[in-house]
Amino acid sequence: MAKYDVTVIGSGPGGYVAAIRCAQLGMKTAIIEKYPTLGGTCLNVGCIPSKALLDSSEHYHNAKHTFKEHGIDIPAPKVNIKQMIARKGDVVKANTDGINFLMKKNKIDVFEGVGSFETKNKITVTKADGKTESIDTDKIIIATGSKPSSLPFITIDKKRVITSTEALNLTEVPKHMIVVGGGVIGLELGSVYARLGAEVSVVEYMDSIIPTMDKTLGKELLKVLKKEGMKFYLSHKVKEVSAKGKTVTLKADDAKGKELVLEGDYCLVSVGRKPYTEGLGLDKVGIKTDDRGRIEVDNHLQTKVAGVYAIGDVIKGAMLAHKAEEEGVFVAETMAGQKPHVDYNLIPGVVYTWPEVAAVGKTEEQLKEEGVEYKVGSFPMRALGRSRASMDLDGLVKVIADKNTDEILGVHMIGARAADMIAEAVVAMEFRASAEDVSRISHAHPTYTEAIKEACLAATDNRPLHM
Ligand code: FAD
Ligand code: NAD
Repeated sequence: MAKYDVTVIGSGPGGYVAAIRCAQLGMKTAIIEKYPTLGGTCLNVGCIPSKALLDSSEHYHNAKHTFKEHGIDIPAPKVNIKQMIARKGDVVKANTDGINFLMKKNKIDVFEGVGSFETKNKITVTKADGKTESIDTDKIIIATGSKPSSLPFITIDKKRVITSTEALNLTEVPKHMIVVGGGVIGLELGSVYARLGAEVSVVEYMDSIIPTMDKTLGKELLKVLKKEGMKFYLSHKVKEVSAKGKTVTLKADDAKGKELVLEGDYCLVSVGRKPYTEGLGLDKVGIKTDDRGRIEVDNHLQTKVAGVYAIGDVIKGAMLAHKAEEEGVFVAETMAGQKPHVDYNLIPGVVYTWPEVAAVGKTEEQLKEEGVEYKVGSFPMRALGRSRASMDLDGLVKVIADKNTDEILGVHMIGARAADMIAEAVVAMEFRASAEDVSRISHAHPTYTEAIKEACLAATDNRPLHM
């Protein structure tokens, strides 16, 4: 029987990163994955394939709408969805192959099959053909991630009523895609198909899209996506989704009880994800889940059972790949006797629409609730030379700083390449910079990042230079 210092269950960004860090620290490490490819949700049906399709659809959108103004005349471009999906598949394969390479390089043994607890030191791996093998292990990291959730009255038939997994593999551009949920997945995948020519209608329960982010961002993104033709039904409670043949019908009530009926050919249900613990046999070792199905852990990410840890989407916190990765490193280093730290306030959030949305730290709404005195500096992207050059005029950077100390408490942005720009705000906040500190740093000209400097100038002293 195989014997390991650490066994990781699940090979997503939490699990495979934890395994690498354990191996780097000298632990004999195994990883168990139930699917034939490594990388979990993120690499197979999440971050990577969605970004591949976002990039492809953006190229098409630009070829159709902005090339002419740039002085590039081409025949009317056409969508070849089969090729687009095939390229996405190649991107996924390159990434998952990369994880195989990393496992070999770090001498991590990979077991394919469903991992379940026999005891806190013994895991059974059940392969697709029903054969089993046992692993003896000193410590265990549960990194089994999450699955799409739905609403009790919706049947996901995976053909017409679909989740993100199927939406990443469509063989045609929908005529009318109805999206339930105006969160990250709904807006990213809604954008993909809207750019490719589908009519897209988003039905959201709350009164804004991306409702958990700073309200300014949702408002601004709504304006831009509406301009691009997406339709939004906010404050609508969905009560029925049914499919008949190729037609999907959605019924919802607005805040005043007025009924909305939409008909489309696809309905994407994107109302969040739920932690995945099926088949793990948690009851055999007495590990508990909370009321939302998340594995309970302490501040060291250890479960109630000594030596068994859990990380990523299967525990509390943001369901983000980089959060799972940080926790993977944290647990490996904790096991090795080190004293690592994860600052959850500084885990950035990004929505890969165009313009992109990115944020770190506290929102204005949170600071109000906490009674913190703050000041705000904003700067519009359209005032930048760089934005005019690329015609990416939408968006803004909003910096929130402590009213008394000027320390940056939150940075919220929407604009071209915001996903990359947010790193500057994370670094600044990690080093507890004041808005004035950042405003005195030279920012290359012309770049989109000048908006961060200008917003900091606005926050410090209300003295932006280019407004
Ligand atoms: P997962 O990636 O879910 O991996 C868990 C793995 O465990 C899976 O491979 C599963 O098969 C395996 N497993 C489960 N149970 C067992 C078992 N008993 N035995 C063996 N194996 C098991 N996040 C971002 O940060 N940026 C993005 O751009 C982004 N885009 C996304 C787009 C979409 C469409 C979706 C759906 C998600 C996106 N996410 C994004 C979220 C991100 O994918 C997750 O936060 C991340 O994958 C969580 O990592 P994890 O390691 O906790 O779990
Ligand atoms: P989400 O939580 O981002 O959005 C779900 C939306 O559905 C919310 O706006 C919510 O108000 C709405 N909703 C809930 N119930 C509803 C109902 N009955 N009717 C109408 N609307 C309803 O969830 P998601 O978009 O499904 O994404 C799941 C997870 O995956 C997220 O936690 C996210 O962190 C992660 N993810 C991240 C990225 C990224 O980092 N770029 C991309 C995709 C997914």
